[in-house]
Amino acid sequence: EWIDSEELLTHVIQEAQGLTQAIAQPPHEIRAMAAASFWVSGAKTELLSAMSNLLSNAVRYTPGGGRIEAGWRLRPDGGGEFFVTDTGPGIAAEHLPRLTERFYRVDRSRSRETGGTGLGLAIVKHVAQRHGGQVEVQSTPGQGSTFQVVLPASRVRERVTG
Ligand code: ATP
Ligand code: MG
Repeated sequence: EWIDSEELLTHVIQEAQGLTQAIAQPPHEIRAMAAASFWVSGAKTELLSAMSNLLSNAVRYTPGGGRIEAGWRLRPDGGGEFFVTDTGPGIAAEHLPRLTERFYRVDRSRSRETGGTGLGLAIVKHVAQRHGGQVEVQSTPGQGSTFQVVLPASRVRERVTG
């Protein structure tokens, strides 16, 4: 199934707007970055679940009023990636290799308040791998994080307009 990347983005951005309005004070400034629009080959419900897991993490772990940006962009190798950037607390380098393990949470006492189970990123990784891709993370403690679901060129088709 070939899916419009913009349609996926619109869906998860709306969902994240609802989440931040429900749980953050003040709400986050969430922006859809429409850097590119293309077709993605995959299972729509799985891709949506991966994307919304990344966005809900950004909303849950970034203090209210923070900035969150999300979008799809093409990669130089012809692949595509969905990215989420936040201005949250960031994650220390020592934790990065284990983040996508099931039940792994960075700060157990602090994350108890935010109430997750530690499965979200394991699901994101699973979905990425089922689509021939992977999850990438860049993070700077005190500044924020960027998570990406990277898909290979075989899963991406540029939109031809005009
Ligand atoms: P669940 O997703 O199952 O509700 P969870 O959010 O704790 O629970 P993951 O989504 O797998 O589980 O995330 C694992 C851990 O990574 C989180 O507990 C949190 O410590 C850290 N983390 C994830 N995303 C971010 C982020 N954007 N900023 C800071 N820390 C993050
Ligand atoms: Mg999560």
